[in-house]
Amino acid sequence: MRVVIAGGGVIGCSIAWHVQKAGGEAILLERGEIAGEASGAAAGMLIAPMDDTGNRAFNVLRRASLDLFPALIEEIEEASGIDVEYKVPGMIRTARSQKAARKLRKAAEKRPELEWVEPALLRELEPSLTHDIVGATYSEGDADLNPRRFANALAVAAERAGADVRRRTMFTGVMKDGRRIDGVATNTGPISDIDAIVLAAGPWTEALTMRLGARLPSPAMRGQMIAYRSKSVRHAIWGEDGYLVPKPRGYVWVGATVEDVGFRKKTTERGLASLRRMAGDIVPRLRQAKVVSSWAGLRPGSPDGMPVIGRFPGKKNVFLATGHFRNGVLLAPITGALVADLVLNGHTDRRLSPFSPQRFGR
Ligand SMILES: Cc1cc2nc3c(=O)[nH]c(=O)nc-3n(C[C@H](O)[C@H](O)[C@H](O)COP(=O)(O)OP(=O)(O)OC[C@H]3O[C@@H](n4cnc5c(N)ncnc54)[C@H](O)[C@@H]3O)c2cc1C
Repeated sequence: MRVVIAGGGVIGCSIAWHVQKAGGEAILLERGEIAGEASGAAAGMLIAPMDDTGNRAFNVLRRASLDLFPALIEEIEEASGIDVEYKVPGMIRTARSQKAARKLRKAAEKRPELEWVEPALLRELEPSLTHDIVGATYSEGDADLNPRRFANALAVAAERAGADVRRRTMFTGVMKDGRRIDGVATNTGPISDIDAIVLAAGPWTEALTMRLGARLPSPAMRGQMIAYRSKSVRHAIWGEDGYLVPKPRGYVWVGATVEDVGFRKKTTERGLASLRRMAGDIVPRLRQAKVVSSWAGLRPGSPDGMPVIGRFPGKKNVFLATGHFRNGVLLAPITGALVADLVLNGHTDRRLSPFSPQRFGR
């Protein structure tokens, strides 16, 4: 079965790998470079939901995806030869107000993986932290990776398994034989005799759906980040207004803003200043550290903040995988596996209706 996937972010790359591995023929189209958009801008944190507030099906999906990482990483690192810099530094969630501390303590009572940490122990665990912290939890299993390397490892692993990965190739439309879509148009020429199409173009998916006669809103949600040259932070730290993640070779990444400003992928003085302020408030030593880079990415949103995974309304062989918003890296393994199942076998063993595009009407 020949499956065209439009979009070479972490979602499209994971779908390509899973389709190829399951015996399909994946053709991955990326108009620029693999992970050149949000997937290359992400922090790469892999964190399960802290509590059970929010949509249950979504929480279950995130936990299930998290469990897939160790085996998937072993598989794609071997197949691609790319080290995705997966590590498990553990995460400290901090509260600087009594209200936030109460919430953390409640979560720690419910979830065995979250350990409540008394202030004296907290200093030992993470000496860089400000003394203003009134409550904290520690979870030793929280992991992170380099999202750009992860997406590239998926793409290269798929390619080495026989997938056709076309970089700098833009999906521009579909070709039909009667009512059935059997080909796609690209800026480098048509691709015919295809069996299915998956639209996984991040926030650009909305424009692609309009070419197919429906409109699925996938708003771009800007996120800005900065990187310090510093070895002062040992663990990932989650604060009330953002997070800090230690990265290999002596960096600390700090993120992220969440801004609904359309497709304006630029950093702003205001956004960067807010990140520097937040980082310095949590780890005062960073006030003296050097910011060595800053960047922004456009997360793919959705009308209800949950991913959109499923069949395109009214089209038998077109599928959607977008709207992963702040969880696209975390959800890449399960999205790839589910979409490959749906496209190749017509069904999945997990209920997809909470994520179906049909929930927004036809
Ligand atoms: C600052 C920041 C921090 C983040 N941190 C985390 C985190 O710690 N953990 C986490 O899980 N998630 C995080 N995210 C969210 C995560 O990055 C996204 O959810 C995820 O990258 C979405 O992946 P995607 O493949 O759907 O979209 P994208 O990465 O946007 O990929 C879509 C691709 O489609 C391509 N494309 C568009 N139109 C076409 C076309 N017509 N033809 C061919 N190709 C096309 C684009 O060039 C792009 O490469 C973060 C995001 C940001 C911005």
